[in-house]
Amino acid sequence: MAGNWKMYKTAGETTAFFEKFIPMVSASTHCDIAICAPFVNLPAAISAAKGSRTGIGAQNLYWGKEGAFTGEVSGPMLKAIGCEWVIVGHSERRQYFGETDATVLKRTQAALEHGLKPIVCVGERLEERESGNTEPVLREQFDGGIAHLTPEQFAQIVIAYEPVWAIGTGKVATPEMACDAHRFLRGLIAAKYGAGQAAASRILYGGSVKPDNVKGLMAQVEIDGALVGGASLEPASFASIVNF
Ligand code: PEP
Repeated sequence: MAGNWKMYKTAGETTAFFEKFIPMVSASTHCDIAICAPFVNLPAAISAAKGSRTGIGAQNLYWGKEGAFTGEVSGPMLKAIGCEWVIVGHSERRQYFGETDATVLKRTQAALEHGLKPIVCVGERLEERESGNTEPVLREQFDGGIAHLTPEQFAQIVIAYEPVWAIGTGKVATPEMACDAHRFLRGLIAAKYGAGQAAASRILYGGSVKPDNVKGLMAQVEIDGALVGGASLEPASFASIVNF
């Protein structure tokens, strides 16, 4: 269960969140828990979550180790401060910051090279779903990006299926819609990496997950977890999703 805080919270608000949140999920051993915070708040989050079961992640990384790349943050930098996870290829990065399947692949490879666990996002836009193109879009994102990982690399990634039309809109995909997309993705994984890897891969659903719809989504056999934006910002709300 991963939270994506996007560009929300100051360092002080980050610390205050964890003071409340950590005790609320201390008995939850059924899943990994991650919070992906803005870069500047990672030290506060890592310090506040120390010794707990909640791992901390970034929301992006650059693929170079170091160099003249003003404004960028590298995998070794994230690893050095104790970051565990990193979101790669979120639809907001694709939409506003020129992220492509090729750069998703480079970032994913860099994350793995530096010991970070990537949560790689894929998903169709509304017009793509409405024109019946969900599966071709997912296939293109898969083939153009993470299908170039080695089997050893692929075994370490988590995939997040996030239909773009459901992110931050309150329009959640029905559990059946999400399940169908996850099943399709698992088929792509099986064809490329084998049935064993397809069964082992963790595929999260993301898109307006809330305390009141998480149970229905998680009841689907294909859905292994959730990537949660808005509802991860409040301790009680994200804790009730984690403890679904
Ligand atoms: C997200 O940011 O990945 C997301 C799914 O957002 P929300 O839960 O707010 O739709």
